[in-house]
Amino acid sequence: MQQVQGTGHCLCGQVRFEFAEPPLWVGYCHCESCRRSTGAAVAAFVGVDAAKFTRTGPVASYASSAGVTRDFCSVCGTPLTYRADRYPGEMHIYISTLDEPQRFEPTFHVHCAEQIPWFEIDDQLPRLPAGGGSADNSP
Ligand SMILES: [Zn+2]
Ligand SMILES: [Zn+2]
Repeated sequence: MQQVQGTGHCLCGQVRFEFAEPPLWVGYCHCESCRRSTGAAVAAFVGVDAAKFTRTGPVASYASSAGVTRDFCSVCGTPLTYRADRYPGEMHIYISTLDEPQRFEPTFHVHCAEQIPWFEIDDQLPRLPAGGGSADNSP
């Protein structure tokens, strides 16, 4: 049986990727690094099995902090993914790079202690002040 695939791409379209569904988790991260990386008030991620994630195109990477790698399109600069030593085997995809982000609904918030005070989402999802533990493997 063919596994269902999620797909996505950067803004200029030169980087394309796909991954096996379902994702491991979907969540919001309010940390300053993710906000700075995206330029957005909050980042949302889809966490997937890195072994079931493939990508083509001009991807560049940098270490945003010790043990953390962020990938982006080297042509248009779109932030693409987050990887970290503390989440081995996982690829965290910025949700708005997906072709169909509406199919992947977040179920938690992390790093709420760093949330911009005027920013609030009216949902009843769990909110963690810092990063997630092993229970949710969040960014
Ligand atoms: Zn691009
Ligand atoms: Zn973050």
